[in-house]
Parts: sequence; structure tokens; C-alpha cells
Amino acid sequence: MQFCQVIVDIAHEDVDRVFTYRVPEGMALCPGMRVHVPFGRQHRVEGIVVEMSERCDLPPERVKNVTDTLEAYPAVLPQLLELARRIKESSFCTLAQALRLMFPAQMRGQRISEKTREVAVLTVSPDVQAQALAAQTRAPKRAKVLQMLIESEAGEMPVDALRAALGECRPMLQTLERMGFVKLEHREVMRSPYGAMERLSAQDPELTGQQKDVLAKLLPAVEEGKGAFLLYGVTGSGKTEVFIRAVRRAAQLGKTAIVLVPEIALTPQMVMWFRSRFGEDAAVLHSRLSPGERYDEWRRIRRGDVRVVIGARSAIFAPLEHVGLIIIDEEHEQTYIADNTPRYDARELARIRCQIEGGVLLLASATPSMRSFAQAGRGDLTLLEMPQRVGNRPMPAVHVVDMREELKNGNRSVFSGALLNGLKACLDAGKQAILFVNRRGYSTFVSCRSCGYVVTCDQCDVSMTYHSSENVLRCHYCGREMPVPRVCPECGSPYIKYFGVGTQKVEEEVKKFFPDAAVLRMDNDTTRAKDAHAMLLERFRRGEARILVGTQMIAKGLDFPNVTMVGIVAADAMLKLPDYRSGERTFQLLTQVAGRAGRADCPGEVYLQTYDPENYAVQAASRQDYRAFFEEEMFRRKRALYPPYTRIVRLLFETDREEEADAEAESALRQMKAFFERRSYLRKLIVSMRAMPCPVRRIRGKTRAQVILKIVDRPICQEAVGKMTEIAQQPRTSGACICQVNPSSML
Ligand code: ADP
Ligand code: ZN
Ligand code: ZN
Repeated sequence: MQFCQVIVDIAHEDVDRVFTYRVPEGMALCPGMRVHVPFGRQHRVEGIVVEMSERCDLPPERVKNVTDTLEAYPAVLPQLLELARRIKESSFCTLAQALRLMFPAQMRGQRISEKTREVAVLTVSPDVQAQALAAQTRAPKRAKVLQMLIESEAGEMPVDALRAALGECRPMLQTLERMGFVKLEHREVMRSPYGAMERLSAQDPELTGQQKDVLAKLLPAVEEGKGAFLLYGVTGSGKTEVFIRAVRRAAQLGKTAIVLVPEIALTPQMVMWFRSRFGEDAAVLHSRLSPGERYDEWRRIRRGDVRVVIGARSAIFAPLEHVGLIIIDEEHEQTYIADNTPRYDARELARIRCQIEGGVLLLASATPSMRSFAQAGRGDLTLLEMPQRVGNRPMPAVHVVDMREELKNGNRSVFSGALLNGLKACLDAGKQAILFVNRRGYSTFVSCRSCGYVVTCDQCDVSMTYHSSENVLRCHYCGREMPVPRVCPECGSPYIKYFGVGTQKVEEEVKKFFPDAAVLRMDNDTTRAKDAHAMLLERFRRGEARILVGTQMIAKGLDFPNVTMVGIVAADAMLKLPDYRSGERTFQLLTQVAGRAGRADCPGEVYLQTYDPENYAVQAASRQDYRAFFEEEMFRRKRALYPPYTRIVRLLFETDREEEADAEAESALRQMKAFFERRSYLRKLIVSMRAMPCPVRRIRGKTRAQVILKIVDRPICQEAVGKMTEIAQQPRTSGACICQVNPSSML
């Protein structure tokens, strides 16, 4: 008698344990397979087998049978079952929730299935074909169908195609089938997301010295199946070629690879490029796939038809076997963190998956995250460096333009004289330019256009956040409030309350100065339609426009050889965001944007406009000096007790009625205090703990409040995170609550 332990697909703590079922005679079952089981009063609930056993301690009459299996193979591989267990531990979700990450959502409830099509296959051998045809003299249409099949190259044709050519012909095909001349078959067709794609040249370039050096360290590790690396390579240093060679080596060894990129970098350009080097061996997973395409790609991977998977964050769960290499490009990006339940950091999971499967981890960036670079400093990651661009192309020259001076000289346009001259020179030379507008951080802080002064909280060292509904400034770390000043407290100028400019405004201004230059604009408004993003980039690549105006979405991974000039309209728009990472984000963004210039033979020029030219992040970015930035930033984090030295844990409440949000936050705070009361070893690590309204008080009609805990980062802090997660999961009559650790947005 065989039994199995099943996790039922109900995400509730009460059922977050295994239930035992009997395996009926003749049913082949193994861990990871999805099954239907009777559960409580429901007689068909989906579940996943996590263990098999020969014995069962329960009385036999209490053990029910597994009803049936959903697929004939395990949907969750053993390695991914283990990964799900680790996610449950670290993010305090149920195992059912963690397991849901491992296969396409539409597979639950069987909302998706294979797509098939009917094919007519000729079954008569060539020597008797003429005879077979002769037998149809009294049915000319049937003869035509047979004729067509005989003439077809593969000796078979889809029924649809026959119908398109000859009109309805299924009855004739059925007769031919009865006569034994034809066989009708249902074949699966894969929904391909690639369409008809131009194939790029798949030729390998000669490696640069730097690429060779890096690979000399990386490839032996891939062969050995162990190691964790951080590749710090400046923009244009040729990191992608390193990825390709490493993936190929893994494939030669019979292993597979996962390449994670930020969603926004999953441009058709990138996809095409990997496909041209790996062909059918590559699968791509991103959010623009239809459910059917996603399901088919997933099964292609699951069946072992694929050697390398390229995808956004969730591709870390790709059902590949023998993973020998996981690459995370642009590893500093926030998008690798999933904020909602189950909360996870793809970089952490990559590390765990590599340990489970014996793979090598490679993080890469031109601007590594504080955390990864610090880990490299401690030896937890092996640092690999590529300090030069391919072909010894120079890094772009960055000109810092002080916008306060512009205003003083009577220039109230969004462009400085220097930027306009640079743009003119670029256009005259027949090249292309990118104008970058930082959209993030708009109208959240108040600054002075004359002197650059920003209203900050004197307690917290972050900018005050502007709340338009109440017309007040509030610090969202400590809750302090103040009115918006009429004139600048620093210099008395009336040009305070300057919130920056948008893409539309920049586009208008460009057209005023350069009426003949074609401009493309890329922002949330112009990229709403499916594929609009890709189409705009393609048009710019083809040279349909000389100037591309855009937001964050143009910053990453783009390689336009003809772009020689980059203008950063307002470098400090995000510097004063009420986020301890704003310096890091600013540095990363400026460096990445600047890196778009001068990637081919002509050197690049960057104009960086700022109201705060002395700022350390702006300064370091203008020199493209990552190390200087890293040192200064770590010093500041330590001084202000921010991550990675501390952890910020936040409970976010959203309720229908206003009073409820604050009451919930207060009640949570009381519970936290009681919790710490009994745990002095944890209590002494607390830096601060407060309940307060959120900076964005209402979203989609819900009122928001929060509890923020800042605690020294030690492994035992997990206990506090666990408690806060528990509070977040308490049943409540109205509204919702989530728990976030070092959240990517504090609004
Ligand atoms: P990164 O990702 O480091 O910013 P890329 O990988 O995009 O840089 O490479 C920059 C450019 O250099 C690309 O156009 C790429 O095709 C080219 N390139 C990379 N390696 C080589 C090489 N070994 N020889 C010639 N060109 C290369
Ligand atoms: Zn001022
Ligand atoms: Zn404050």
C-alpha cells in the first residue's frame, strides 16, 4: 500500500501542513506531481504531492484516496520543491503560496491547455500512389485532396491548409482514412512568442583581453559547479559576451543556465540577440507573453528542450534541470525584489538554487548594489572587473551644468546653454541624441530654483514630502509636519516649489529650439499599447528620429551606436526622494544613462543638469567613479543607521474608513511593544519604532497608515520580521495589511 503527503492548494495557515492520502492501485505518483484530492466537504481540490511513504499511522478508514493526477509528470521538480520550502521559511508564507510560484498561474484550476491542430498524413507508399489515385475516379474532389497530399513535400498537411485550398474537405479525408490511404492526427502546436524574426548574425566576436581574463576565472568555476561572482564592468565593457560564453560552456557540460534581466531590459532587441546565438535552445519568459505562450514556453523548458532561459525576476523558478549557471544582469535593480506575498529577493533565491543544484552565481552591473559590493569586499562574492569599454572606447565626457547659474543669468528654459550647444553639435554631425527626464520623484519634494535648497526634516536627514491634498510638508520617517514656505528659507527667492519638468514639456521645448529635428517621446503615455515600447525603440534605431526624449525606461541596456549625446534634464529629481537609497539610485541612474552615449566609434558627450552640483552622488556619477561613491555611501549609511547596517520593516495598512487605518497601526504598534517587552536581546537592537500615516494617505480610495521598525541587521532580526508578518496576516474585519522589509517604496 502506498501513501503520499499532499499540500492542498488553499493558502491559509490552518491548512499549511501536509495531508495523507492513499495512492490507488495502478496510479504512478511521485513528489512534485499535481493531483486532485477530496478535502473537507469539497470532493475535488488541487494539491501537490511533496512526499511518498509506505506507511501511514492514521486509521485506514480516515485516509482517503487520491482522485486523479493533473499531469503525468511532476509540475514541480524536486529542486524547486526544496526552493519552495526555503521561501516558506524566509518569507513566512504558506508552502502552498510558495509552490504557486513554480508553475504558470493558469495551470491552477486547469484554465489553460495545449493547443492542437489536425493534420492529414499520407499513409500509402510512393509505388502505389498512382493506383490509389486511380481508385478515386468517381470522386473528383476526393482525388484532388489525395493529389494535393501526394504532392506535398512532407507527405502531410494541416487540415486547415487543405480546407483553405479546396474548401470543406473533412468528409473526403475521413473516407480516405477508411480506405487506408490517409491518417488524421491531432498534433500539438507550440504558441511561439517569437514570430517571424530577423536572424542577427550569430558570429562570435574575438574576445577582448578583459573578457578573456574574466572568463579564465569564471569558466573553471562553471566546470566545477561552484562559486559566486560579482562582475563589475563599466557600461559598454562587453558583459553580455561574457554571459554568452559562460552559458555556452555550461551547455557544453550538459548543464543549463538562467539569465535574469530587469523586465524593462527584455526588449525584443535583447531577446532576438539571445535567440540568434542560442536558437531554439533559448526560452524567454516575460510579462508580455500571453498565458498560452507562457504555458508553452514553460512546458518546453520542463521537457528539457531548452538550455537557457532568459527572463525577468520570476524566471528564477524556471523548471530547468541541472542548472549550472545563474546570471543576474543589472543586479542593482529593485525589480529583483518581490514585495508582495510571497516576498522574495531573486538574488537570494539564485544563491540558494545554485547551492541546491551545484551551480555558479554571477551577478553583474556597472553600478553594483551596496549590498553586493560589500559582500565582494568581505569575500562572500568573488569580484571580477572590466574597467574598460570594448575597443578602448573612451568613457563619455560628462559636463556638469549648474542650473542655479542659468537662472541667475536669466535663463528660465528647461535647457542650459551648454546642453543646447551640445545638442546642436550632435545634430550637425548627423548623430542621434537622448534626452533623459527623471519622472520618478515628481512633486514629492519642494525645492528652490534659485539656490537649490530642498526642504528637509531636521530630525531625519530626508526631504519633506509634499501632500497636495492638505498642502503641507510631512516627514514620513518621523511624521513631523510644516507648511509649504512661500519664499526660500535659505535665499529668499520666490521661485520655490519647483518640482521639475515632464517629458511632454521637454519635447515641446526641443521642437521650439530645433523645429526640423524629428523627435520621439517615450514615457508611460506613449508606451501604453502592447509592443509600443519595442516599436519606438526600433524606430529610433532605424534613424526615424534624431532625438529620443524619455524616462527611466530608456536608461537600461540599450545599445544605439549612433547616439553620441545624452542630456540629463534634471539629475537631482530623485536625489531628494524620502528614501535612504536615493543617493544610490541617483548614482546608478545617472551612470547608466550616461553610459548610453558614445558606445560605437564616436566619443560620447553627456550634459548633466543639476541644482545640486556638489552632491556626492552627482559628483561621483559625473566622474563615473563607482568606488568613490561606494565608500561615501557606506559611510553615510553607517552614520545614519540605514541598511545594510539596519533593516527597515514596515507594516502597511489600507482600509476603507479613515479612522480604521490609524487605529490598526496603533494596535499593531502595541502588539510589537508587548512582543519586544519579553525579548530584551531583540529590544536592544531597535533603533526606532513608530506608527504614523503614510506619505501618500489615500490610494484608490483606501486610507493608508504604517508602522515602521528600524532595527540593527542581525540574523535574529528574522524573529521580529516573523512577528510583524504574523500581525499582517491576522484576520481583520476590513482592509488589508502587508509587511515589507527594506521596501523599495516608502510612499
Ligand atoms: P555592457 O553590457 O557591458 O554595457 P555590451 O555587452 O552591451 O556592454 O557591449 C557593448 C558593445 O560592445 C556591444 O555593441 C557589443 O556587441 C560589443 N562587444 C562586446 N564584446 C565585443 C568584442 N569582444 N568584440 C567586439 N565587440 C564587442
Ligand atoms: Zn533658495
Ligand atoms: Zn523626520
